[in-house]
Amino acid sequence: MKFGLNIDDRRLDFSCAHFLTGHETCGSLHGHNYRVKIDVLGDIDPDYMVIDYAKLRETIRKVSKEIDHMILIPGNSPKIDIKNEGENILIYKKNGAKLYNFPKDDVVILPIEATTTELLAKYFYEKLSKIMKNVGLRITIQESEGYLATYPIEE
Ligand SMILES: [Zn+2]
Repeated sequence: MKFGLNIDDRRLDFSCAHFLTGHETCGSLHGHNYRVKIDVLGDIDPDYMVIDYAKLRETIRKVSKEIDHMILIPGNSPKIDIKNEGENILIYKKNGAKLYNFPKDDVVILPIEATTTELLAKYFYEKLSKIMKNVGLRITIQESEGYLATYPIEE
């Protein structure tokens, strides 16, 4: 039988700005204080632990730190074009209308189609499962109090 380990810790909160192109209320730039929660499924080691909590927390922090206090851009979005221009990143709607002009240093372009909570959960899952290869993972991202998305879930 496997053991389950969970972390739900305020210290793992991170803040980001994003927009959901075409969405009625979330289409314009706004922000969230996100929380990443993790479920780990695995065998216990000779110290009777699946993973040391502190090491697990540090591993998650490494991933969330890359996007904390940044503007998240969906690099694979079919709805926008992203252009590099000197020190800036320009975001255009597909119809050619300019959406935003951001300083490059404030932006992270993620390999996802949209910065929904669902795809942020998948993003964390893919990053963390490359680091933590011998355990099962499930990631939950809380967008705001009571609003969460989880990946993966078996049907
Ligand atoms: Zn939002």
